[in-house]
Order: sequence, then C-alpha cells, then structure tokens
Amino acid sequence: MPIDIIPLKTEMQARSNHLRNQGKTIGFVPTMGYLHEGHLSLMRLAKSMADTLVVSIFVNPTQFGPGEDLGAYPRDFERDQSLCRKEGVDMLFYPTASQMYGPRFQTFIALEQLPLHLCGISRPAFFRGVATVVTKLFNIVKPNTAIFGQKDYQQLRVIRQLVQDLDLDIQITSGPTVRESDGLAMSSRNAYLSASQRPSALTLYQALCQTRNRIENGLTDANALIQSAVSLVLSFPETAVDYIAICDPDTLEDIQTVDRPAIMALAVKVGKTRLIDNMML
Ligand code: AMP
Repeated sequence: MPIDIIPLKTEMQARSNHLRNQGKTIGFVPTMGYLHEGHLSLMRLAKSMADTLVVSIFVNPTQFGPGEDLGAYPRDFERDQSLCRKEGVDMLFYPTASQMYGPRFQTFIALEQLPLHLCGISRPAFFRGVATVVTKLFNIVKPNTAIFGQKDYQQLRVIRQLVQDLDLDIQITSGPTVRESDGLAMSSRNAYLSASQRPSALTLYQALCQTRNRIENGLTDANALIQSAVSLVLSFPETAVDYIAICDPDTLEDIQTVDRPAIMALAVKVGKTRLIDNMML
C-alpha cells in the first residue's frame, strides 16, 4: 500500500478528525527524520497500541540555537519514506517550516524548571522549541497515544510534564534506547562522525557502564563517580564534555549520594558532533 504523505496541517487535522469520528485510535511518533532503528522501534510500539500509525518528519527550526546544526541536519526523505512504508506507517505528516510557523508566529510553550538542567544549560532555547512544536503536532495529529525515546530522557520528562500541566488528553509512552552492537546509542547525528571519530563516540556508553559498575561495587558519591566519568571521556581523542550529571529522574536536580533511583545523563562533543546518552542507575 502506498503511504499517504500529508504536507498540509489542515489536511492532517481533517484526516485525524475523520479517523476519530470512526472510532479509530491514532498512535503518533514525531521525528526529525533520517530514520534509524531507534525511530523504527518506536513505530512498532505505536502500531501495537493504536489502530492507525502517524509519523511526522519535521526538522524544527525553533529548537535550534544560533550556530547549531539546523542547516546541516541530515535529511533523506526518499529513504525515510520507504522505511516508513516497510513499518506499515499509515500517514506521514511532512510539513514545511512555513506551514508550521506562520509569518507572525509568536506563541511558545516554555517550562519553568526542567529546562534549567542538563541540555537546557548549553541549549537555552531548545526545550521551548521542542515543547512548542510537540504541542502543535499534538493539535494537528490529534493522537490518542504518542511515543518518545528514553534516549532523549530530558525531552521525555518535558513532554510528560507539559501533557500533565496542560491537561492534554494524550497517553505518553516511552521506548528503550536502541544501540549499535558496540553500545553507541543510535542517533541521526552519528552520521556526522568520521571513521576516526567513531571509536571516541563510544565513550558515552562506556562512561555510563563504568558508573553503573562502580555503584554496583558500593560507590555512592556522585561527585567522585562524575569525576571518573569525565576522566574516561577525556582519555579519548577529540572529546569535550558539555555535562555529565547524576540526577533525580523526576526533577533532574543533581543528587549527591546515589542511595536511591537516579539517572546519569551526559552530553559529549566528539569533534563538532554533540552526542547525548543516559542510563538509569
Ligand atoms: P529525533 O528524530 O532525533 O528527534 O527523534 C525522534 C524520536 O526518536 C524521539 O522520541 C527520540 O527520543 C527517539 N529516538 C532517537 N534515537 C533513539 C534511539 N537510539 N532509541 C530509541 N529512540 C530514539
């Protein structure tokens, strides 16, 4: 079956209204495209939870800061489309930036606390852009359920929070991080890595595993754990640490002692490529 590609938000809304009037449920996976197995795993999850599967591909300009990689972000719509077809995606919402943001666009969704941590520190406009575009996509696609990856843990927390705070009637489900066979978390941005940089990218996962092992061996001092993780990362060529944090999984505030559930999250630059990963401790 050919996949339905929908570039217009009014058409997407009309199609979703029609489905909902027929009593059909809609599962939704928002993406920025350049799809990989991580995205596909979320599509399979969504398909198992709803009658109709809608995927969006939109490289959202409002979540990129000045000097970030908006222009360079990898794109391959033909390949994405055929992957979506193989996964049984029913509709692919594929708007342009001007379709999503009109000339006098001026309304944003901004959370007060969650963006003060982790990625929000070096990317101050990022979560405002994410929260805004996801809210818009929810209003356009009208899903019953939407799936997000744990790979972007802070983003998942932001979306769960906005759904709760704004009383959106949408079920949010998360899917586990899909990794390459050596442990590197799949990401569209891995395409930026040169062959010589690729081994350094593995340092994120190694730092997470090292920390988990140390905790299993009885270490609980978060600062000491973070210092060893920083040393490990910096022992690889071309790496720079944006942040390495051990924090409360709900508030994302730093914790001092790992004597309760915690999440370790890190952002590392390998050359010019900024990579993130996380692990529950
Ligand atoms: P993106 O296209 O990078 O904006 O990601 C779209 C969705 O896919 C988000 O919910 C991400 O968290 C999720 N995602 C990205 N990478 C992975 C991965 N390696 N495993 C699972 N989900 C992922």
